[in-house]
Amino acid sequence: MSREKPDVEGGETRIVRDAACTFCGCVCDDIELHVQGHKIVQAKRACVLGTAWFLNHAIEDRPSCLIEGRPASVEEGVERAARILTEARYPLIYGLSDTTTEAQRVAVSIADWVGSCLDTTSSVCHGPSGMAVQGVGEVTSTLGEVRNRGDLIIFWGANPAESHPRHFTRYSLMPKGMFLPNGRKDRTCVVVDVRKTKTAKTADLFIPITPRADFEAVWVLRALARDLDLDAEQVLRQTGQPLEVWQDLMRRMKAAKFGAIFFGMGLTMTRGKHANTEALLALTRDMNAHTRFVCRPNRGHGNVTGADAVVAWRTGYPFGVNLARGYPRFNPGEYTASDVLSRGEADAAMIVSADPMANFNQRARQHLESIPYIALDPKETPTTRHATVAFTVAAYGINVPGTVYRMDDVPISLRPAFESPHPSDLQILQAIENRVRPSIT
Ligand code: SF4
Repeated sequence: MSREKPDVEGGETRIVRDAACTFCGCVCDDIELHVQGHKIVQAKRACVLGTAWFLNHAIEDRPSCLIEGRPASVEEGVERAARILTEARYPLIYGLSDTTTEAQRVAVSIADWVGSCLDTTSSVCHGPSGMAVQGVGEVTSTLGEVRNRGDLIIFWGANPAESHPRHFTRYSLMPKGMFLPNGRKDRTCVVVDVRKTKTAKTADLFIPITPRADFEAVWVLRALARDLDLDAEQVLRQTGQPLEVWQDLMRRMKAAKFGAIFFGMGLTMTRGKHANTEALLALTRDMNAHTRFVCRPNRGHGNVTGADAVVAWRTGYPFGVNLARGYPRFNPGEYTASDVLSRGEADAAMIVSADPMANFNQRARQHLESIPYIALDPKETPTTRHATVAFTVAAYGINVPGTVYRMDDVPISLRPAFESPHPSDLQILQAIENRVRPSIT
């Protein structure tokens, strides 16, 4: 870690170079943090979202552990948490997308020891992508390859201009790459979406499609990739765009040297869900008969990609896994957290760096509130507020080191800015694991 101590007006400022921002899946690792005591006063090169993430981070002035709202020692919290998990008949462990890979790994172990349902926030964003990848595979690349080679960039149901502000400048559109010396001028940007987003406004070609018609539109392209004849009237009716528009896009796709498709929740969370993603992944595979083409999801949380990877390494499935029988069973819709809670099945839960009380449906929230559960979060949230045991933990990337996976599955080491008085997720989870392991064996 590179830390300097220059004299700066108003007190000593430490500089942390090449820090990684974990606010979104871009995980920009070129941030220069200026730190005064327990405060980051400047985050050079961070976008507006990253700057807010770093500069608004303050050490929470609350105990590291609350049991039923009352301050307690971390040891007491760990003891109570272990009891909650081991005494439950159907525990649920959920979250994991905003913590380090090291902590995710321990959470999976706990799930295994106590025989719980294990789910990540993927189930409410790119879960369908995980299912599609398991179904048809993926043709992929790093973002570095896109930066250096990608001359046709397609965003499908994704709006990185607002959700991942540095995606354009660091990876996909603006950079001058090894084979694209003129940067943006050497690239063509196409956006397919149901509305004219901020991203669509920057595109060379915007194709607005009928809402919920992504599946049909991708299959039109699959047919055109194979030079099949299509009924023009049917194409217009089912996609909202004339056949000529899709033929023009296919011409551009075949003519590209290196095409990259980035897709978002506009594709994965609309009608068709995993079938949409499967179709897009299959289209990408088809395109490789003509030219090099890759496809990547634009992931939201800083380490949601790591969560998928860790859960898949350990169980064979990326999310929505049930370990109650001592072996993993995968069934999104049955073992995904919002469904398990909505049906009133879980009788205890552990929520790691997620806020289901703020974004699950009412039935799920009501059930969660009615059962004993543990919450780990750096900040006070609706979920920590209702938790039986609430741990205030150090923030990953800002206070604790570790590994996160960028949206293209590239591991990035974190360079924290300052220490927190609170324990890390990893420390709490390790303590819980140590406690639940002997009680199970
Ligand atoms: S694009 Fe994402 S990772 Fe990069 S600085 Fe902005 S919020 Fe942080």
